[in-house]
Amino acid sequence: MSHPEILPITETDDELRALLDDPGVELPAILPALAHALGDLTLLRDSLRLDLTNPFAEQGGWTPEQQEECRDLAAEALARLRDHDGPLAPAPSGADLHAMMNWTTGTTLDEAYLAMLTEELAPEGADLRAPTWHKDDIAPDTPMRVVIVGAGMSGILAAHRLAQAGIDYVVLEKNPGIGGTWFENTYPGCRVDVPNHTYCYSFMQKHDWPGYHSSQGVLLEYFNDCADQFGIRDHIRFDTEVQAVVFDDERATWTLELSTPDGEATLEANAVISAVGQLNRPQLPDIEGRESFEGPAFHSARWDHDVDLAGRRVAVIGNGCSAMQFIPHVAEVADHVTVCQRTANWMVPRPQYAQPLNPNLMWLFTHVPHFSNWYRLHLFWRSHEGLLPALAVDPDWPEPIETSVSAANDELRELLTLNFQAEFADRPDLLEKTLPRNTAGAKRFVIDDGVWARTLKRDNVELCTTGIERITPEGLVDVDGTSHDVDVIVYGTGFKASEFLTPMKVVGRGGVDLHEQWDGNARAYLGVVSPNFPNFFFMYGPNTNIVINGSIIYFSECEAHYITESLRRLLETGHRALDVKVEVHDAYNERIDAGNLGYAWGVSSVNSWYKSKSGRVAQNWPFSMLEFWEQTRQVDPDDYHWL
Ligand code: NAP
Repeated sequence: MSHPEILPITETDDELRALLDDPGVELPAILPALAHALGDLTLLRDSLRLDLTNPFAEQGGWTPEQQEECRDLAAEALARLRDHDGPLAPAPSGADLHAMMNWTTGTTLDEAYLAMLTEELAPEGADLRAPTWHKDDIAPDTPMRVVIVGAGMSGILAAHRLAQAGIDYVVLEKNPGIGGTWFENTYPGCRVDVPNHTYCYSFMQKHDWPGYHSSQGVLLEYFNDCADQFGIRDHIRFDTEVQAVVFDDERATWTLELSTPDGEATLEANAVISAVGQLNRPQLPDIEGRESFEGPAFHSARWDHDVDLAGRRVAVIGNGCSAMQFIPHVAEVADHVTVCQRTANWMVPRPQYAQPLNPNLMWLFTHVPHFSNWYRLHLFWRSHEGLLPALAVDPDWPEPIETSVSAANDELRELLTLNFQAEFADRPDLLEKTLPRNTAGAKRFVIDDGVWARTLKRDNVELCTTGIERITPEGLVDVDGTSHDVDVIVYGTGFKASEFLTPMKVVGRGGVDLHEQWDGNARAYLGVVSPNFPNFFFMYGPNTNIVINGSIIYFSECEAHYITESLRRLLETGHRALDVKVEVHDAYNERIDAGNLGYAWGVSSVNSWYKSKSGRVAQNWPFSMLEFWEQTRQVDPDDYHWL
């Protein structure tokens, strides 16, 4: 999967040129791939240096003339590749790779960035984040059994890394299958909203995604394929839910209390990795009368496929990422859809959102060696800091923070507003209701290809923004007294995102309860560990969520590296456990909190799942992708008490 089979090029010069002339072929990654295959860095001309500062710019921000220059160069190089006899160029030297990366990112990278991006590129299919050690070489006789909770994207990754390091592990999964969020969210229209070519493991890159943002079933298949290729399926116990995890101070081990298909059970472990996800436990709204509704009602993440919505009157509460994906599909079949919007969301236009992958782009994946790696790297870089600078707070900006937080943020707002104005040009009533009043970036952006406006304009769809006062046996009643009688209610009301690890009970050193310690304010050091919980590691833990930049898989890969490094240190030093120092943890979180207050999502008072009940941003990582990589490279022994 990580290395596409490369087919011979049989196309004529004219056919190659025609292929490149297709405006759907994204050009910027072609030249580094060809430079790599042919060993010809002259293809990476200074005149074509990319400017990727505008994440919305098509074709790397190139002028039409530059695009033509690229097509000319690429057509000639493709013909050379076709006519080439003998082996391709060897892997580029360090200096050449550096030059190629500088060109691809349109910047001058320092050594740290180069190392991080080389891991992401995974040249020649290399797994550069794999552990470089094996337990048998360090401490073959030391017991080290790790339990991973969850077999979603993070859990599969953690299992693979432990297997590579020769560590004994078991994965406990509450569902009957692999995939986590992609197993649970089966609602119509569910698809990944970051580019698919970056939403895959760096060491398990997949080029033949059917779309730019593939649908849930495709993602589920990918993670199942990964589990099979990694050989971890036999280590997973399905239908097994962890109820409690308790630390034994004497023995420095964890005991897990489980409910299994065969009843209650316990399991001992030296270390526990929680890979339970953040967006996992459905949040049902606290609206009066919710239980009184007499028709079927279900949450988006628990879609009831037995309920036929054809010809029914359906109310949908919520208009977040999930709801905006399924409402267009519901509207296709339902008699009537009442969409209840509490807060409008900023939409980011993405015309390719639901499109199948361009066949000529697919041709490049399958005929040009290394193209898939360079394409992925190009996307990674474009989205890596993405819109982040446009969300940073300028303390001198005169506008109220509930409108915009800087000149760049204001520009972004105007840009996105233009899109709304275009989408709803013929419906000022809908423009008035859908145009957000909140700061761009204070809530998560939703991706849209125009389907949202088309859906809201349908005769059978009604957008209600008045607010729901109560739910009755027959439907909903708005605060202005308007009744909406419906047959079915669908809750697109999101997840208990800030209630990390619930409903699991976790009891650490001295009987400290994790949820009591957090007191509704989940925090962690590096997003990975919490004081009093030795050898208990989080993946996708507090403050490891990205807002607009990158893919969460990158974060999980960094976390998996840090966790395996922690285990390596234990094995090397002979200590049984490591427990992060309170002062290290607290100082880190002060930095995180200050960082989040530097961004729109931190200063705005608008409601969002980024925040816990206290208003603290518990989810988001407020710094660069590189900084997360750097801080998870090595375990600093001074950060820990060693038991
Ligand atoms: P969400 O973004 O939290 O949206 C929940 C929606 O329900 C919001 O519109 C919210 O309104 C509304 N709501 C909640 N309680 C309400 C109440 N009591 N009364 C009225 N409205 C209420 O949840 P989500 O759409 O499931 O998405 C969560 C996250 O999951 C996304 O941001 C994204 O990170 C991830 N996701 C990813 C994908 C993907 O990649 N395929 C798809 C779906 C979701 P307010 O805005 O006013 O709070």
